[in-house]
Amino acid sequence: MTAAARRLCCLGKLCSSILASRMISPLATGMYAGLGAAAGVGLAAGAFAYASLWPGSRIFGTAITAPARPGELALTFDDGPNAAWTPRLLDTLAHHDVRATFFLLGTHAAMQPELVRRIQAARHTIGNHSWSHPNLARTRSSRVREELKRTSDTLQQIVGTPVKFFRPPFGARRPVVFRIARELGLEPVLWNAMTSDWSEPSADRIAKQLMKKIDGLERRGRAANIVLHDGGHRDASANRAPSVAAAGLLLDRYARSHRFVTVNAWCEHPK
Ligand SMILES: [Zn+2]
Repeated sequence: MTAAARRLCCLGKLCSSILASRMISPLATGMYAGLGAAAGVGLAAGAFAYASLWPGSRIFGTAITAPARPGELALTFDDGPNAAWTPRLLDTLAHHDVRATFFLLGTHAAMQPELVRRIQAARHTIGNHSWSHPNLARTRSSRVREELKRTSDTLQQIVGTPVKFFRPPFGARRPVVFRIARELGLEPVLWNAMTSDWSEPSADRIAKQLMKKIDGLERRGRAANIVLHDGGHRDASANRAPSVAAAGLLLDRYARSHRFVTVNAWCEHPK
């Protein structure tokens, strides 16, 4: 990590204590077969897939998942901003007076600067989710840099402050991806609680699956870094009503008993 990135975000103690999680993106599992051949790193395909896609793996570099703070929950939303769903989500979060983290796609942000400013105005944390959602484990370094830098520059132009966090699309990475992110002042963030909300028609089912993971993490003494999607990286008209409603159900269930935080809380105030 560069000195600048260290100052910006995650200081040694907390980062080194961040838990290796056990939750891989189902989106990513389909990539296993092709990855080994493309890697050229001398790892067997299975080992490369684990290092590249498993959110808890540190083989290709460390990232924020969630610290040993049971009772803390970070709601994070990927693939927005989305004209239809992000405003509804913002209303739900405001109703509960809860702050979340939004990993935005540069392409979507550039088309909806007002919506990005609305997220910022509501004091949510904004992160970089790349420009066009490529699989960065298989993207040449110069393009990785371009994807991240263009997005950070665009977001900074819109909100007026630098972006500090980066979540790789599909969680896919190789060592150079996190190195480039940190050179750009971005701390990588993965997750430890995800379900396939993008393909699930029932908010109840999404919420139940996530509650099971959240409660399991808490029993093991961990905070939960929860992923939902308020946009679609392939199709901006994707229906995210179940994901938004599931976020509401999680807030109904945990708002009084737990502390909702943004990923900032896991970097700037280590305990
Ligand atoms: Zn995504």
